[in-house]
Amino acid sequence: MSTVPSSAPSKVEKLSAVKGMNDILPASVPRTEKLPDSARWQWFEAAVRNVLGRYGYQYLLTPIVEPTALFVRGLGEVTDIVEKEMYSFTDSMNGDKLTLRPEATAGIVRAMIEHNALYNGPLRIWTHGPMFRHERPQKGRYRQFHQLDVEALGFAGPDVDAEMILVARALWRELGLVEGQHVRLEINSLGQPAERREHREALIRYFEQNASVLDEDARRRLHSNPLRILDSKNPAMQALIEQAPRLMDFLGEESRAHFDAVRSALDAVGLEYRVNPRLVRGMDYYNLTVFEWVTDQLGSQGTVCGGGRYDGLIAQLGGKPAPAVGFGLGIERLLLLAQELDLPMPSAAPDAYAIVPPGTPLAPVIATLEALRAQGVRVVQHAGGADGVGSMKSQFKKADASGARYALVFGADELARGQVTVKALRDGSGAQAERSLGEVAQWAATLQSSASELAQVL
Ligand code: ATP
Ligand code: MG
Repeated sequence: MSTVPSSAPSKVEKLSAVKGMNDILPASVPRTEKLPDSARWQWFEAAVRNVLGRYGYQYLLTPIVEPTALFVRGLGEVTDIVEKEMYSFTDSMNGDKLTLRPEATAGIVRAMIEHNALYNGPLRIWTHGPMFRHERPQKGRYRQFHQLDVEALGFAGPDVDAEMILVARALWRELGLVEGQHVRLEINSLGQPAERREHREALIRYFEQNASVLDEDARRRLHSNPLRILDSKNPAMQALIEQAPRLMDFLGEESRAHFDAVRSALDAVGLEYRVNPRLVRGMDYYNLTVFEWVTDQLGSQGTVCGGGRYDGLIAQLGGKPAPAVGFGLGIERLLLLAQELDLPMPSAAPDAYAIVPPGTPLAPVIATLEALRAQGVRVVQHAGGADGVGSMKSQFKKADASGARYALVFGADELARGQVTVKALRDGSGAQAERSLGEVAQWAATLQSSASELAQVL
């Protein structure tokens, strides 16, 4: 026997989601914050599967929790993420130092090394899921956010660098985003480690000569990671950054040739881009090609997608040296953009809504709806709440709100004749006709036809 508490606790503490971590809800659930709804989410996921399938990328999943050392070694100690954004904790059971993944690449590379995945040759892979960074939450910036992550491992490029960029472009096109208008491409080359060292020394000399203009963050990074100063968003330092020595001028022949080849591949397909010599990425592991897809429509959270080549990372994490290139795309940012532009997406509405008048015997209703669904029809049954199934009027209201094109009315008279009434809801005609419950397979497909065909259908 179950025990029922004799009285409810006087006040139950209200629980809410952790700050900066969001529920992704159906559009029918109203909310105050601007966030993409779950239909947008599914629309995006379907597009991603289509596009990546066309390019031959395979799906993989890695854990959300990884050893902290993976990110410290992989991303570099003097990076925003490792210095101040990671959710790290000690496993109370065994004392292990763990971190909620702030990005996907390090975990993927760890998995590839662990499973010797490149043994049979290079791999094209992708994943998507939640990432965690302890940042100040604002529009387009959250503490739990989601990324699409696409990686090509074992390819030296530059062909595959261009492919990466084109995969993103194909995704924009699939979604209805216009490149050059809604999203723009910026590219740069970070050269090779030796070239970066030379540039770095020049950079340190330059910033030392202008030490009075540096902010606290920049002064701290001057000797540990001066390249990151170029990434500063502090307006007071922009003029200084503008005049700083450019890595591009330190690139050797091979690096230049690699960059030129990427550029001519993009030119060949008419993809416009801006070479942004100040484009450096947040992680230390990048070399040669880096790129970002940016938008002007999301304020300072304007980078929708960023990536590049990271030839050193696999060896740095203990694997057999192999080149690689990839990108991460912020799903919330992209969907906010899609929402703001009101990009069209297929309706998630059902084909039909079944109206079940009070007192109707359920057996023939359920049997008919199951038969329809088996034929691929999307049909929602009006089901009773605590106060019963509701009047016909309120059921028709629900049918309307559902967006369904048809109502199926299981009236007692029709049921007695083995029939159901099919009524058009969306074309203004109010047309209706009876259909036989015994011959569902013969008329199921008509429920999936578009509104303009309704008159002929009924
Ligand atoms: P930002 O400069 O905006 O902080 P980032 O360089 O840290 O971005 P990456 O590490 O390159 O970002 O991650 C790839 C993409 O993931 C970004 O371009 C962005 O679209 C998205 N992203 C990064 N951080 C967040 C976040 N806190 N909330 C939502 N999306 C994010
Ligand atoms: Mg960041």
